Amino acid sequence: MAVPVDEAETPFAAPATLGRRACSRIFLTMVAGALPGCGRSGRSGHLCSDVSRLTEAERELRFQTLGYVDDTSDPRSCRRCQQFSVVTGSPCGRCALIRGPIDPDGRCIKWAARE
Ligand code: SF4
Repeated sequence: MAVPVDEAETPFAAPATLGRRACSRIFLTMVAGALPGCGRSGRSGHLCSDVSRLTEAERELRFQTLGYVDDTSDPRSCRRCQQFSVVTGSPCGRCALIRGPIDPDGRCIKWAARE
């Protein structure tokens, strides 16, 4: 004897409850996660993204005021900036203007060519 299946308990009920935007977001997240390198920041991965030791003011300077980003395809990246210095044994560098780990492939609005 067949038991009636409650529609809400089937996995096929989910699309009826999710909007098109939510489905698109889930799909894009899945695709990005499946592609190598997507969702990572710079060649250092997420290693240079840890700003947990910075104060709120330092984070504001880093992100809002100076617009620092971990990864840029722009050739004017931190590694070619005069404010950048290498930290021996670390994939992250240091910046004379911004506290915290700096991705060599990152950039901010204060970029200035090394002389
Ligand atoms: S000033 Fe900006 S571009 Fe230059 S090293 Fe610092 S964060 Fe990178």
